Amino acid sequence: MDLKLSRYTVPTSVINPEDQPAFQKRILYSAVSNAAVVITDQVFHMLNNGSYERIEAEIRVELENARILVPAENNEFANVLAENKVPDRLLSMVLHATSQCQLGCRCKKQAQHKSMDTAIAARVADYLDRQLEHDRFDAWHITWDGGDALTELPLVKEISQHNIRLSAKYDKPCTVSMITNGADLHLDTFRTLFYDCLVKHFHIVVGGSMNTELNRRSFSNIEHILAEVQFQPWDGIIFEIKVNVDKDNHHEVSGLVDKFGTNNFQNRIIFKFCSEASYCEEERRYRYSYTPSEFAELEIEYLMYAAKNGFPVNFLPSRALTSCPAVNENFMTVDVQGNMFGCYALPYTDHEQHNANMIGNLFSEPSLFRTDLKFRQWYDELDTHRGSCYDCNLFPVCGGGCRLKWSEGADGCPSFRYNFEDRLILNYLTQKGAFNS
Ligand code: SF4
Repeated sequence: MDLKLSRYTVPTSVINPEDQPAFQKRILYSAVSNAAVVITDQVFHMLNNGSYERIEAEIRVELENARILVPAENNEFANVLAENKVPDRLLSMVLHATSQCQLGCRCKKQAQHKSMDTAIAARVADYLDRQLEHDRFDAWHITWDGGDALTELPLVKEISQHNIRLSAKYDKPCTVSMITNGADLHLDTFRTLFYDCLVKHFHIVVGGSMNTELNRRSFSNIEHILAEVQFQPWDGIIFEIKVNVDKDNHHEVSGLVDKFGTNNFQNRIIFKFCSEASYCEEERRYRYSYTPSEFAELEIEYLMYAAKNGFPVNFLPSRALTSCPAVNENFMTVDVQGNMFGCYALPYTDHEQHNANMIGNLFSEPSLFRTDLKFRQWYDELDTHRGSCYDCNLFPVCGGGCRLKWSEGADGCPSFRYNFEDRLILNYLTQKGAFNS
């Protein structure tokens, strides 16, 4: 069988340039299988020259198994795209409990505070009921977002009752997570959400100085919960702390990791580091945001620091069948007026993509709901117009990044595009048990 080097292969440089040339090694990673293989520099050159027959049989088989060497006739792009286009069987919905964002932005879009009401809760339940009665879905996931859903606890409880009822009616599981700043996540509230409302994962969004009143309250709530609640081993990670890093707070990140590391909370917390100075304040974003490559360097340091302190860190992404929810036809977000969108950043904005990605309103006839959303057509557009994602060797683990950012002419790539080699080496060291050295 004729072979070729997969287009979705990512090599590192020589791991240790001080090794003798005959012993120099590289890591070769397949973005399709997520396997990383260590090979000599000689084998690397044979691969690049197409001299596959010169590679030792055992190594060649390993490379084939890792999908680094693939049959020459394979249309790898078409295969990846076809896999990505298969709809999954999970219905996914983001509910905006209020019209505000977590970071307390002062922009005018945040000036009018509105909340979701019980009429919308009933419509959400009706919508879920209609969807779940079909075989198309095996399960559904609700994410609470918008300002802070903790300020709308009765509403969260009400929709949870609908979820529990529907789960029993259709014998399909429902999972729930909540995006919150955590400042109002007191122990009693947590217990209600965790035990009565199916909310098992909390994404705690932290921005600005770590020493604000808001952040201090949030951290103290997390510590209190983790100290008081007897979690079961299968409860796994409870908190994802999403740290929005900017030029103003970058020096405080390690202190935040220390804070939770010294309390032995490593089996319940995962950190996610993001580069967001502000979602909507352009001036602040301009002054304090890092460029993608600047941030990627910092991110590696933070990930290493978290790993050294015993927190779980996935250095390598896995195969992404859809990375951006906006391309997924099973995803929708609902705002406080019952408007439904395919992209969760579009409610309450006058963004040029607003109408093109609006499904409709829960109070309208379902026959009027639109399915031809702009972002959902992206895989077809990529197939015909091609573009940077078509040529990118990370496409299988990325899926195409953030459609909204790309539509604005910004860089929609995930940060790992800019630090993938470091990630490969750190993953290699972790697997060798040599990370801390
Ligand atoms: S978004 Fe960026 S990293 Fe992802 S596939 Fe496209 S070009 Fe590659």
